[in-house]
Amino acid sequence: MTHPFLDLAPLSAARFASIEDRVARLLHTGQDVLIMQGEALLPLEGAIRAAAGPGTTALNVITGPYGQTFGNWLRDCGAEVIDLAVPFHTAVTAEQIRAALAERPEIDFVSLVHAEAATGNTNPVAEIGPVVREHGALFYLDAVASVGAEPVLVDAWGVDLCVIGAQKAMGGPAGVSAVSVSERAWARMAANPRAPRRSYLSLLDWKERWIDAGRTALPHAPAQLEMLALEACLERIEAQGLDAVMARHARAAAATRAGALALGGGLEPYVHDAADAAPVATTLRAPAGTDAAELVARALESDPALPVSAGGGALAKEMIRVNHYGPDATAATVRGALVALGQALAERGLSVDVAAALGAADAAGR
Ligand SMILES: *Cc1c(COP(=O)(O)O)cnc(C)c1O
Repeated sequence: MTHPFLDLAPLSAARFASIEDRVARLLHTGQDVLIMQGEALLPLEGAIRAAAGPGTTALNVITGPYGQTFGNWLRDCGAEVIDLAVPFHTAVTAEQIRAALAERPEIDFVSLVHAEAATGNTNPVAEIGPVVREHGALFYLDAVASVGAEPVLVDAWGVDLCVIGAQKAMGGPAGVSAVSVSERAWARMAANPRAPRRSYLSLLDWKERWIDAGRTALPHAPAQLEMLALEACLERIEAQGLDAVMARHARAAAATRAGALALGGGLEPYVHDAADAAPVATTLRAPAGTDAAELVARALESDPALPVSAGGGALAKEMIRVNHYGPDATAATVRGALVALGQALAERGLSVDVAAALGAADAAGR
């Protein structure tokens, strides 16, 4: 008996390479693109350990929880780390980055998260990229939560290491990921004696055994099901058009924000300025005197399938996340989230107007 997930023909090197080429087109890059056989944390960590070492001075921009993780890896590599933290309800500006670079000219590495699904903000990489390039530092970007929801222009922005995963706005699998690598980044890694080699984290191993060998033989067995799912998800994006997929996310974000404001009851967008809000997910501040995790639990009782969660860690009390990405970037999901949150707030005795919220969401999401 054959099974759709089992008994598959081996994934050929040519097919693997063609999936990489599709990712490269999605990222608008002519750089090398490697598909890594693990969730996005694999290339995120692998790229930092390869490119940073004791001689590195890194500007690590913290606009959410992932920036904190990158700083810890950088320090662990022996890099000197200058943290630039901005409040999670805003975004970093190109001017802040320019000032930080001017203060410490020796900075030769900049790490930044594009959009933060966990805090709902997005950073203006189109403006930041040229500032980093002018300074000459290597530019590392986590675009896991932005790709598919907003433009990611690797070459135009001068990104040296850009990491993506398919599990957010691309609506694809979580078990494989990709990183684009510039010539400058390869050179930095080659010169780093501490860059992982003969290691699952190693980007250089893949360069040597896969890219430099002409992408004709895979170094080890690929994550076949995940690769097929990634290919299918790329095909779907190409069929729908990347612009249409991004527009769907922008509409979901605008609808959620407008709907939450019209709902009342003291619910507010967590990210103050709409221009700083990520299209991938909308974060909301729970009204004073309420607990975000409790409100979310109540909302999920009425509809367990809603992509609504409380903020992580210390944010669990105050932050509600509406994760309207991938298949959930729809008006129906946004409406469902507003209705369920409205009910939860009403039960707490807060005065809400669900009809007004839905009207505002529909108008903003048009
Ligand atoms: C989702 C996400 C990742 C991937 O991490 P998971 O914990 O597996 O979800 C990485 N970076 C950012 C900015 C993300 O939003």
